[in-house]
Amino acid sequence: MRLANLAGRATLVLDDGVVDLRKASNDQFSADPQRVYEQWAELVDWSSRTTLSADARLDERALEAPLPRPRQVFALGLNYAEHARESGHESAKPAPVFTKFPSCLTGPYGQVVLPSGFVDWEVELVVVIGRTTYQVSEEQAWSCVAGVTVGQDLSERHVQSEGAVPQFSLGKSYPGFGPTGPYVVTLDEISDPQDLELSTQVNGSYMQRGRTSQMLFGVAETLARLSRVCPLWPGDVLFTGTPGGVGNGRDPKVFLRPGDELVTTIQEIGTMRHTCVAGEPS
Ligand code: ZN
Repeated sequence: MRLANLAGRATLVLDDGVVDLRKASNDQFSADPQRVYEQWAELVDWSSRTTLSADARLDERALEAPLPRPRQVFALGLNYAEHARESGHESAKPAPVFTKFPSCLTGPYGQVVLPSGFVDWEVELVVVIGRTTYQVSEEQAWSCVAGVTVGQDLSERHVQSEGAVPQFSLGKSYPGFGPTGPYVVTLDEISDPQDLELSTQVNGSYMQRGRTSQMLFGVAETLARLSRVCPLWPGDVLFTGTPGGVGNGRDPKVFLRPGDELVTTIQEIGTMRHTCVAGEPS
């Protein structure tokens, strides 16, 4: 399944178009793209028994964040060796955990408003939780995952690093700093989520190009670790860290500028496209 948020409604993306989930299921499933995950097992069962046909063409401009209001957003820092090095750290054990406050989440196409001249890119595999998960073993962890999507962990590097004990979350949570999409792809459609190419291009040049196999702490290990402390809920999301090639790690440093075209891709999942625009002068 490829599950999208099309103009605020849960929508299945088929090869030849889209179908509205609530209508196709005769109201069995919520039209709310966030609440669908509370019925995840039921949805997987229904979709395996149902032949769907498209009732409209996909209008990509209407795609919004596939998870618009997760209760929890987890994110890992320094989870790829090259990115840890370029950030001036040894690979951290364990990887730091922070949040992107949910108000920053946005869809796969559109504009990114730059609050300053220090906004940086971070392509990341985003994992979507499909059932309540608490103290899960590493072996069982993938069975708690509904699917995966593409994410950008956009980061304002000055705010991210300010203070005596830097806390990453605020500098990564300006409005629009959490592009996600274009849709959630279920694991049966992915050859190996732990070995996918992921990339960021800016104005047509590759700035990041890595593989999810390069994660220092894989998805299963991370879900086991997080759920030792926090229950994970259906529709929660996990940003799994970024490979090398961020602008802050370059000499000289490079940051996003108004007019830049940001293209974020993960193999077998999809591509997001954003244009950077200047924020209001403060
Ligand atoms: Zn990140």
